[in-house]
Amino acid sequence: MALPEHTILEHCPLCNGTKHKPWREKDGYHVVECEDCSFIFIQDYPSADYLRKFYAPTYQPEGDTFIPAGGFLRKLKYLAFSKWIASKFPKDKPIKTFEIGCGQGDFLSSVKDNPRFDARGVDYAEAPLAYAQSRGLNAQKGDIQSMGIEDDTFDLVVALHVLEHVHDLNQTLGEIYRILRPGGMLFAIVPSVTHFKAKIAGQSWKYLGPPGHMWYLSPQTFAKFVTKAGFSEILHCSHFYHRAHVRILAKK
Ligand SMILES: [Zn+2]
Repeated sequence: MALPEHTILEHCPLCNGTKHKPWREKDGYHVVECEDCSFIFIQDYPSADYLRKFYAPTYQPEGDTFIPAGGFLRKLKYLAFSKWIASKFPKDKPIKTFEIGCGQGDFLSSVKDNPRFDARGVDYAEAPLAYAQSRGLNAQKGDIQSMGIEDDTFDLVVALHVLEHVHDLNQTLGEIYRILRPGGMLFAIVPSVTHFKAKIAGQSWKYLGPPGHMWYLSPQTFAKFVTKAGFSEILHCSHFYHRAHVRILAKK
């Protein structure tokens, strides 16, 4: 029986298969693995409305104290990302960039003084967004669907720790594909369900967190989703060194 304001996902969002086996259970949620394509996903699927209510306290927290996360190492990490991404684009043109879920603006900040990037971002979480704006970054409230972005607009879409949260993964990847120019790229990072840390931690894996985390991707299933959305080439898709994440760079 479904939880209130939830439905049961009968079909695998990746391959449409109907056979799945239990993977984990947490807080009343069943997380299952598709027996056809190995994609791991939340079977008790919250309505978009329920998810909005679930996130409301983090979008508009009580009080006004916001303590930015991370420090110097994080700054270096994002600078390394932006340098690596820039190396994939022709040197003579600006890289028009859109970041989904820009949060406190660490990625936007890493490209702010780089003349090769022309970047903006969106998020719903008000306190991090206000902090990003105070850093002089082009960060607005909203999401990819609400901004009225025309087809073929951006050279780069960035989604860091975002896609595991979105209500409809196929639809969001479709939107990302739509707003990218031909030859444009998606750079995304999500937790990796097949990383050894996830296996060792079992039930106490820190990214096992429905309904916030709904889609449990691996390098294999993430690559399949991106290909299904229409991307023609995957330039990079792997665990990022020692970190328990999948990092992908895919070309339209
Ligand atoms: Zn499947």
